[in-house]
Amino acid sequence: MRNAPHSKNCLNEQGIYPCPVCRCGQITVLPLMEAMSCNFCNHIFTTNFEQQLLKLADSQPSLTWRWNGKTWKGLQHPGLQLGWDYLIVAIAFVVLPTAIVGCSAYLFPPIPGTPLAWLPSVWILLTFMAHLACVAWLAVEYYQLPILLYFRAIGRRLFNLRLM
Ligand SMILES: [Zn+2]
Repeated sequence: MRNAPHSKNCLNEQGIYPCPVCRCGQITVLPLMEAMSCNFCNHIFTTNFEQQLLKLADSQPSLTWRWNGKTWKGLQHPGLQLGWDYLIVAIAFVVLPTAIVGCSAYLFPPIPGTPLAWLPSVWILLTFMAHLACVAWLAVEYYQLPILLYFRAIGRRLFNLRLM
């Protein structure tokens, strides 16, 4: 017997909720199924009404959100809290290699006018971008931001519009 109140603030099978993946569509319960689907990106979610959880069922990584009455909160990895120390390590990871490459380019500057005179500045930029990308990827993983799924949904919608 299900005695949870069907209030608007709690996740239940009668409700309509914003999609946590594309943030454009709405998710509703599929008829005769313990699952919900989005009318925009077509992703399928499994539900846990007791714990107010929504789990992405048809994609990897399997993301989970909790409904807090107004929005979805991504469930972060338990036992791992980000503090200042992580932020300092992340900044150092980006800044230090860039500074080392920059120093070497400053101490041993290329001879102006030679064919590879542009290489040190491009190399500095590449070092910075590559390390920044590593940090950004870790942040996306940690905060469970479904960026790739979001862009795939937008792309599919644009492609379908063009076909119509
Ligand atoms: Zn969606």
